[in-house]
Amino acid sequence: MRNFLLGIRLIVFTIIFNQKGVFAQKQVPLEIHPIAPNFYVYTTYHTYKGELFPANGLFVVSSKGVIIIDSPWDTTQFQRLLDTIHSISNKKAVLSIATHFHDDRIGGITFFKKNGISTYTSSLTDSSAASKSMPRAANHFDRDTIFHIGDMEFRTFYPGACHTKDNIVIWFPKQKILYGGCLIKTTLDSNLGNTDDGDIKEYAQSVRKVLRKFSSARWVVPGHKQWGGIELVKYTLKLAEIAIKD
Ligand SMILES: [Zn+2]
Repeated sequence: MRNFLLGIRLIVFTIIFNQKGVFAQKQVPLEIHPIAPNFYVYTTYHTYKGELFPANGLFVVSSKGVIIIDSPWDTTQFQRLLDTIHSISNKKAVLSIATHFHDDRIGGITFFKKNGISTYTSSLTDSSAASKSMPRAANHFDRDTIFHIGDMEFRTFYPGACHTKDNIVIWFPKQKILYGGCLIKTTLDSNLGNTDDGDIKEYAQSVRKVLRKFSSARWVVPGHKQWGGIELVKYTLKLAEIAIKD
């Protein structure tokens, strides 16, 4: 009898779990996570090497419109992201920055341009995008740059090659929020992942620069999986140090 009841419980649990799983995949292709006042991590999913894989971007509400860092990996979510931004903030997106030339960062640039958003990448990202026939931003910066959009200030920082040779991070000094993008790993990662376009030898020294410069970070947002604090940068440094020895 106990086994029979356990069997029923397991079946019920499985059905509920499956329904939730289907719901999560079909109904929530765009997840929005507020992390601080006016700061929202957004997550979309993309099938990569046969697995559904999450990718994070960030949008920030300023007094003069919304800043989008990177674009959805799921290309069906470009319009929905803009609609969501408008319904949350009652403001339009005015500026976007892509943090390197891969499609999980840069894929929405053409769409953003068509919607009147000023698109930016570094010059290094632009030349990488051009050489791989990827979408290219309308505006480029040659060196680390400070942006002021309404009441919001942020800085770009190029630490050197890591995940790619052009990857940058973005720092919001007042809020102490570091958008690390794909060069920052999480404890769910056991290695540095895809470094085909990056540099394993330079990875650790580049991450060390990020750690030194932004050690006061309250939030660190990686390109994939769970955001957290400065421990993500320290953990990434450990992975990079191990990778050099291998
Ligand atoms: Zn990535």
